[in-house]
Amino acid sequence: MTRNIQDHITEDEFIRFVTEELSKELEIELDRHMEICPNCEEEFVNYYAAEKEFPAEKWEIERAKLVADLRKRVFAPSALDRFRKFLRETFFYQLALPASAFDTKQPVDIESEGSAFGVYIEEDKDNVIIVRLDAKETELAGRKIRLYSSLGDWERVVTLERDKVDSDWVYLELKITREERERLPREATLLAEDAE
Ligand SMILES: [Zn+2]
Repeated sequence: MTRNIQDHITEDEFIRFVTEELSKELEIELDRHMEICPNCEEEFVNYYAAEKEFPAEKWEIERAKLVADLRKRVFAPSALDRFRKFLRETFFYQLALPASAFDTKQPVDIESEGSAFGVYIEEDKDNVIIVRLDAKETELAGRKIRLYSSLGDWERVVTLERDKVDSDWVYLELKITREERERLPREATLLAEDAE
């Protein structure tokens, strides 16, 4: 039995997850869903916090570690974890060239809650895409970010550098040329993740 990755985790699945009654395959599928769904991830952590009555012997070392990692990610996420989350949740841009030269795209300008992170993407008249990522987290200086296409064979690794004007910020800037875009399938979208 396989579940749809988009489906939220049910109460029953949460319980069976905690008591380890799920198949390895289904566990992996729930993990995958939590990767893309912060709501279920948070609920999962809350669920663990509330379900202390489960017998200790049922908790394997591996499971305890998973919970500890989850807790850390939800309650005290590092700058990198928060940036990762921002990239995962906000990044969406069609990479392939527009069907018509008259298709002018609106720039993308998104800030995270609290404005610690930002993404700005615009397209110039020659169909060059300019991507800029900003983070008000100087500890991210030197981190490598991988920008890549959801389809086709395109990727670029760019290092976050300290902003010379405002030293509280780090940023990266990248241009994607028309020639690069011409080689990509129509449905290709731009994705980003840390490259560690
Ligand atoms: Zn969910």
